[in-house]
Amino acid sequence: MRDFLRKCPACGRRFAVRLQSKKLVATEENTQQIAHDVVVLAGGGRDARVIPAGVTYEDLHIETEKFAVTYECGRCHHSWTEAVTKVEKG
Ligand SMILES: [Zn+2]
Repeated sequence: MRDFLRKCPACGRRFAVRLQSKKLVATEENTQQIAHDVVVLAGGGRDARVIPAGVTYEDLHIETEKFAVTYECGRCHHSWTEAVTKVEKG
């Protein structure tokens, strides 16, 4: 996590922001269906044809994790929380 690039919303300082805590607040699991066209190559040479042979489906598992990330500014001690969503497909 590139926290050093964050800017404090109170004093505007960069590089002074520290990650205080990271809390998992929710997880979601979904399945997304992806369609693949299936084709069959018929014949050869100049007569070769591509024949559509239906569709296959692939299930893609999607896991979504939602975090509440709390930052604190080392300069003015302002702290705030950001919602971060992490999505993993596989
Ligand atoms: Zn600050």
